[in-house]
Amino acid sequence: MKTSNLLIATTRETPADAVVISHQLMLRAGLIRSLAGGLYNWLPLGVRVLRKVEQIVREEMNRSGAQEVLMPVVQPLELWQESGRLQDYGPELLRFEDRHQRGFALGPTHEEIITDLVRNEIRSYKQLPINFYQIQTKFRDEIRPRFGVMRSREFIMKDAYSFHLDRDSLQQTYDEMYDAYNRIFSRIGLDFRPVQADTGSIGGDGSHEFHVLADSGEDDIAFSTESDFAANVELAEALAPRGERPAATAELTKVDTPKAFSIEEVSNCLQVKAKTIAKTLLVKGATEDAPIVALVIRGDHTLNEIKAEKLDLVAEPFELASDEEIKATAGCGAGSIGPVGLNIPVIVDRTAANMADFVCGANIEQVHYTGANWDRDAKATLIADIRNVVKGDPSPCGKGKIEIRRGIEVGHIFQLGNKYSKALNANVQNENSRSQVLEMGCYGIGVTRVVAAAIEQNHDDKGIIWPEAIAPFSVCIVPMQMHKSPRVKEAAEALYNELTTAGIEVLFDDRQERPGVMFNDMELMGIPHRIVIGERGLDKGEFEYKHRRDEKPQDIAQEGFIDWLK
Ligand code: ATP
Ligand code: MG
Ligand code: MG
Ligand code: MG
Repeated sequence: MKTSNLLIATTRETPADAVVISHQLMLRAGLIRSLAGGLYNWLPLGVRVLRKVEQIVREEMNRSGAQEVLMPVVQPLELWQESGRLQDYGPELLRFEDRHQRGFALGPTHEEIITDLVRNEIRSYKQLPINFYQIQTKFRDEIRPRFGVMRSREFIMKDAYSFHLDRDSLQQTYDEMYDAYNRIFSRIGLDFRPVQADTGSIGGDGSHEFHVLADSGEDDIAFSTESDFAANVELAEALAPRGERPAATAELTKVDTPKAFSIEEVSNCLQVKAKTIAKTLLVKGATEDAPIVALVIRGDHTLNEIKAEKLDLVAEPFELASDEEIKATAGCGAGSIGPVGLNIPVIVDRTAANMADFVCGANIEQVHYTGANWDRDAKATLIADIRNVVKGDPSPCGKGKIEIRRGIEVGHIFQLGNKYSKALNANVQNENSRSQVLEMGCYGIGVTRVVAAAIEQNHDDKGIIWPEAIAPFSVCIVPMQMHKSPRVKEAAEALYNELTTAGIEVLFDDRQERPGVMFNDMELMGIPHRIVIGERGLDKGEFEYKHRRDEKPQDIAQEGFIDWLK
């Protein structure tokens, strides 16, 4: 392709609201443009990358024996009613009515739809096991869309759903998916880890997440230093033996302040079940205009449990409290929840029988929140402090010590068991002609998130450095003064044709721009191989070659150049 036929939408300015590097570079390199909160236009260059990721995913899914389907984005609410998830899912499910007042939702995931399809289409055990997948748009009304396409409201997911007569068959397909996911993320060129995961609101037993290791990740991954053990910290916490924690009561500040809101008011506002809130308190330092409420949550819940909708809390992010706050609450969980501007400190009773009297007194204004300027080490320490599982703890597997790193969840596989098939009556006739409920697994990959995650791992101060497998173009040709030199033009056109014929994807920069502008754009856009053609090189029968990761260019003979490049 020639740049004259491609929208080059590079910008030099870093948009102020883009806090993570992948978001900044996706905007600056002209891959995406923001439309509204959590909604993005994908520009031609971005689409090329997206299609590469999709293609790898599709090839590996096909190889694993899964079949591609395509289900509607719009889903009838009746099915959600039938599965029982209508209540549980919360406001991430965007609902609306059609002109006949029938309830619909934009699909955040497709368990209900596929189970409905399967109960109508699959009659006999002889058709099993079966695995369907699609690569399709999802919508989740995320409370705080952020980090560009990493946490958007509309995004593309590869979701697969397998159906089985028994658990063994489910386990077998699950293992195959586990292998397929390893192949997919390896082929894309990511540094990733499969980790044991909690099954969250979806239910079921076996589950793994695939995390791209990056500081900007929103999840904490616990590794063992001496074994293969790797788990999402929320799960590692559950697996870890309850260690000795410092006594909570001693260090806590007792606050006798008037209540700012009733429990009901706060519970409505945050959609936390009223019965889980033991007490609301006005935090020291709050004013009438900006009242800040601390919640004391009853019982032994981790913040992640509260976050994970188990307590019907739908506020997605929770932010960490200040150092002081953390110290003050050592031994119990601390953090804050709620949208920005309404950061509610939460104290979770984990150790004492009744913590209702204890709440920290830090002014929430003192807290430093997550975001670009967050000091990662400081954060890691804070996390370590408020978790049951901390760096250096013995690993729950019994071998080695815990190491904690940040990860971006790019894939998630679950063994759902019969949660949906039972609720929706998805049965088949077994060998004995008896009706039997199906076993089910589901397997997701955040296709659009993968693009951002790849950039988080592959960039420098000049821009993106695409892994070869998902680069929008493999090679760029940058001719010097082509519009003045017929000789350069001829050589560049000839090379372009030869490379294209050899099946290599080339971007030919035929713009009348200064070399510096062209170099900067190509580096920002992250094209792996750059070939510069100029009069001086041609005199010597050479092209100038530079890999995006190389410091310096090198001169390579024109003769046999394509073989050399391959
Ligand atoms: P997260 O924990 O990041 O909210 P999730 O656990 O809710 O993700 P799943 O239901 O497991 O997501 O969906 C499968 C995959 O879809 C995730 O592993 C992730 O890669 C992707 N995904 C989920 N939510 C988003 C989003 N808002 N924007 C982009 N990708 C997403
Ligand atoms: Mg989510
Ligand atoms: Mg998750
Ligand atoms: Mg998940």
